Amino acid sequence: MTGSFRGRFAPSPTGRLHLGNVRSALLGWLWARAEQGEFLLRIEDLDPERCKPVFTDGIFEDLEWLGLDWDGPVLKQSERGAVYDEAIAKLETSGRAYRCWCSRAEIARAASAPHVGEEGPVYPGTCRAGGSPKAGRQPSWRFLVEGEPVLPASDPSTALEGVRFTDLIHGEVSQDVAREVGDFIIRRIDGVASYQLAVVVDDALSGVTHVLRGEDLLSSTARQNQLQRALGYPTPEYAHVPLLMQADGKRLAKRDGASTVAGLRELGWSAEKVLGQLAAWSGLGDGAPVSARELVGSFSLERVKRTATVVE
Ligand code: GLU
Repeated sequence: MTGSFRGRFAPSPTGRLHLGNVRSALLGWLWARAEQGEFLLRIEDLDPERCKPVFTDGIFEDLEWLGLDWDGPVLKQSERGAVYDEAIAKLETSGRAYRCWCSRAEIARAASAPHVGEEGPVYPGTCRAGGSPKAGRQPSWRFLVEGEPVLPASDPSTALEGVRFTDLIHGEVSQDVAREVGDFIIRRIDGVASYQLAVVVDDALSGVTHVLRGEDLLSSTARQNQLQRALGYPTPEYAHVPLLMQADGKRLAKRDGASTVAGLRELGWSAEKVLGQLAAWSGLGDGAPVSARELVGSFSLERVKRTATVVE
């Protein structure tokens, strides 16, 4: 053992696994196995509208077919509401979570110079001081981020330093969460925990030490770091791998049948052929068919290609 290394793959069952997802699974699995560590599987099925049990079954089937095994029980986020409630209660007790009664339209109107971040307009902090309950409407819950409530975006001199973290692929990254995102949602109006909250709670309670995932989530990491600090959790190491892109410059999407593992299997591809291709796209090998086990010996994170790959 090289000490404790625990990685994970955390797919959302909103479709069959496509090559982009499965490449993250392969790299995360190789990293964990090369470090003689553990590799966990977590199903991120929080969104009842988009997630389907049939796709969860598909995830198991595809990973098994590829020879990517996992350790311990599989967590399903849809079964963990009580655990997330506990974390939100803890944040409320320490003054870091509050109810928000604002509608999207109200937020857009309230922001004096609306700056649209990843979660819509930056939340101006309206309900920080209590807010006013609205009859017949359930509140969402927001996390009170570090720093001042958002200031008019026109005054850049007031920008905060932001959260800094070191990503093992991207180096030092910083994001001013207060200014770029604002107090973000941790529980939606329908009572479901948000992705940001659930991922932080689950990574911490499962003892995850190393997170490898797609670059599209690099911009969530500063938010997750703040939640970890507020909840007294350790922060794992992060490695955000470049995405697989389509020739038209778009991210490889789930809806393209031929880019799913199941689709390629139906076309007659062997698991070794899929793995050889995924490895070559990642800068690991010449594309010849290979088993997952055979890739472990020569794997190191430093060898993983650092630029996006265009998949023809
Ligand atoms: N469930 C997320 C996704 O499928 C990944 C979450 C994570 O790795 O932190 O995109």
